[in-house]
Amino acid sequence: MARNTNEDMRDWVGMFQSTSFADRCCYFIPGFGNTCVFETEQGLVLFDFPLRQMARRTFDSVRTFTDKPIKYIIYSHGHFDHAFGYDPFLEEINEKGWEMPEIIAHENCIKRFEKYEMLEEYHDWINKMQFASLRGRTQDAAVSAQQTLRPTIILKGNEDFHKFKLDDILFEIYHNKGETDDSIWLWVPKRKTICAGDLMVSSFPNVGNPYKVQRYPKDWALAMEKMIEKEADYLIPGHGRMIQGKKEVKEALSITAEAMHFIHDEVVKRLNEGKWFEQIFHEMLDIFPVKFKESPHLREMYGCYRFAIHATYRLYHGWYNSGNPTDLFPAKSNKIAREFLKISPEGKYLEHAMNLYNEGKLQLALHILDVIIKGSENERSEVRLKALNLKFKTLKEKTKKESSFIAANIINNAAVQIKEKLKDLEKS
Ligand SMILES: [Zn+2]
Repeated sequence: MARNTNEDMRDWVGMFQSTSFADRCCYFIPGFGNTCVFETEQGLVLFDFPLRQMARRTFDSVRTFTDKPIKYIIYSHGHFDHAFGYDPFLEEINEKGWEMPEIIAHENCIKRFEKYEMLEEYHDWINKMQFASLRGRTQDAAVSAQQTLRPTIILKGNEDFHKFKLDDILFEIYHNKGETDDSIWLWVPKRKTICAGDLMVSSFPNVGNPYKVQRYPKDWALAMEKMIEKEADYLIPGHGRMIQGKKEVKEALSITAEAMHFIHDEVVKRLNEGKWFEQIFHEMLDIFPVKFKESPHLREMYGCYRFAIHATYRLYHGWYNSGNPTDLFPAKSNKIAREFLKISPEGKYLEHAMNLYNEGKLQLALHILDVIIKGSENERSEVRLKALNLKFKTLKEKTKKESSFIAANIINNAAVQIKEKLKDLEKS
């Protein structure tokens, strides 16, 4: 049965029931950032904390299943929604006088925490845009980068691997770059379970996030292939529902690997053909395979194919991406717009933008509206206010059509800001 975007999004943020699996020895606790718990006689292994704002809910869920102490904590990576929601767990450890668990992470996770401290306000700002539609739900309490539980067992370099046993249960931890450079994943042979962290997010991989640093499509594919070799029965994603059954797990991993190889290799081929970004991007849109478009594992709900093209290009290319020397040291965009308005008056541009809007050519309408909005000498001129109103309408229209959570938030957030600006302008 076809699912709608709201259902997908509710799953993605973890609004569904916790479950036990693998003979009731493991617990899957959905959250904004899923948590997976493995129970042994000696205690628990916990893979990922949720976002700090979801920590109490996750903690309570864990404690409905088991009251054993936590022995190991594994950070799939150091993002806010995977390594920060530890408060209630720490309180319990202190209260009961338990020993502090070992915390396992990749060395790049520590560098990430240091980077978060350096760029705290910046990350707060970009995350407010990326997660704008969740404002009020997960953004009430700011997550401070200063408060981290530091790892005690640290995987190093590119090939590192770590394993440990608790009771007779073996836990194998691997590092592969993918969404981040610090991502690690867990294989528990006895429970036939893989915890993938954000290497699997129940959406098209978040590779090429517009606000964030470089991500790694080829390494992502290699991680998926390493996971396929394990022949797992359970695949725990970083977000969304658990994938169950050997066949289903293999299918989810295979199609994701295939998509990552495809995007990487097709962009690389075009770089070698001497093409610039614009040409590569539009050619890639034309060849987006139907099987990826239609795969339930690659729904463009969070990340999207269009972002992934950027990610691959950026992996190998510098910032000069048009091949046009006009763009090397460009003039300010409002000065350029002003010159266009000297050639033809604002009203003409507005009329043309309206026609484009009515023809459904929303992106082109935006480009034309920007000439008026940026170039107009009078902030409050009637034509400029009309242009802002039409831009608001156009962005709202685009938001409705946009499946990617990140893209929709960027577009809609800009629309909201235009509305606020318009209120200010119209007031005075
Ligand atoms: Zn995540």
